[in-house]
Amino acid sequence: MNSKQDKKNLNWSELGFDYIKTDFRYSAVYENGGWNSGELLADEQIQIHEGAPSLHYAQQCFEGMKAQTSKDGRVLLFRPGLNCERMRSTAARLLMPEVPKELFMKAIEETVAANFTWIPPHGSGASLYIRPMLIGVGENLGLKPAEKYEFRVFVSPVGPYYKQSGLAVINLAVSDIDRAAPNGTGNFKAGANYAGGLLATLNAQKQGANEALYLDSSEHRYIDEAGSANIIISMKDGSFITPSSKAVLSSITRRSLMDIAKKELNMNTEERPIDLRKEISKFNEVAACGTAAVLSPVGKIWFDESWHSIFGDGESVGPVMQEMYDILVGIQKGEREDKFNWLHHIEL
Ligand SMILES: *Cc1c(COP(=O)(O)O)cnc(C)c1O
Repeated sequence: MNSKQDKKNLNWSELGFDYIKTDFRYSAVYENGGWNSGELLADEQIQIHEGAPSLHYAQQCFEGMKAQTSKDGRVLLFRPGLNCERMRSTAARLLMPEVPKELFMKAIEETVAANFTWIPPHGSGASLYIRPMLIGVGENLGLKPAEKYEFRVFVSPVGPYYKQSGLAVINLAVSDIDRAAPNGTGNFKAGANYAGGLLATLNAQKQGANEALYLDSSEHRYIDEAGSANIIISMKDGSFITPSSKAVLSSITRRSLMDIAKKELNMNTEERPIDLRKEISKFNEVAACGTAAVLSPVGKIWFDESWHSIFGDGESVGPVMQEMYDILVGIQKGEREDKFNWLHHIEL
C-alpha cells in the first residue's frame, strides 16, 4: 500500500546531513521490569521528567544506520543485526535494559515503512538515516540507573556527511584533547562520549581539517579513530590495516570493509596498534569510515605543527579506496551481488 504513495517533493541530491521531520517515529517504554510493545507516533517531541538520568548523567545510547532504495525499488538495510547487538552491549555497559532483537527490528522496519515517502529514490545519492536511541527517563535525582526507559527510532533523509557527494577527500587534525580512556566507554555508542569531543572537532576545523583524529589517550602515539568514524589504511607493502584499540567504537562499516579487503581484494588484513609518526611514511592510502561518512579518503593529517600528505598531493582519491568504496556502496544499494549476505530487505 505504502509503495503506491508518491515520494516527497524534496531536492534529494542537495540534501546535507541534517534533521528533517518525517511523519512517524516508533516509541516503546520499559517500566516495572518489562517493555511494552511500542507504537508509531506523529509527535517528534519527547516529554520527560526534569530529573531524567539521561539528561543529567548521560544514561543513554544510540545507533545509526541507513536504508537505501535499490534500482528495482526494494528498501535495503545494511547488517541491522549488528546495530542491534551493539546497542545491547552498550545498554548493558550503562545498566540499561537491553532492547530485545524482535522489538529493535520491528521498530526499525515499521518506522522505515511508515515513512516510505521520505526514503530517497535510487540514484539520488541520498539515503534514509535511521537513529535508534535508548534513554533513561522518569523521576530521579541521585546518581543511579533510571527505573524507566524509552526506546525510540526516528528517521531523516540525508545526503553526504561531508559536503561533496560521492567520494570526498577529507583532512584530519590530531587532537590534543582525548576522546576516551583506555578502559572507559569509547568502545560503546554512548552519548557521553560525544559532548566532550565537540571542542576537539571545533579545534580541528579551526586548523582547516574536517574532523579531529584521536590518538590513544595514554601515550598519544597510536591511532584510535576520528570523531565519528574509524580509520582504515592501505599500506605501501599491499597490506590493509586498522587500529586495534580498546577505546575505539567497533564500526560496522569498518568491519565490512576489512572483509571486502580480505575476501574481494585478496589483501592481507590486520588489526593492530598503528604508530602514526613511525608508520606514516608506509601509508599508501588512508580513509575514515562509518555509516554517516561511508568511506571518506583522507588527504592530509595535521600533527606536530604541520600538514602531512598521505596519497599523492593530498587532494585526490587513490585506487584502493575508490575500489573499496565502489564495492561497499554497490552492495549497500543492491547494485552488486550481496555475496556476504549483508542486506536485509524491508517489507513494504
Ligand atoms: C557510529 C560511530 C562510528 C561508525 O560506526 P558504523 O557502525 O560504521 O556506523 C565510528 N566511530 C564512532 C565514534 C561512532 O560513534
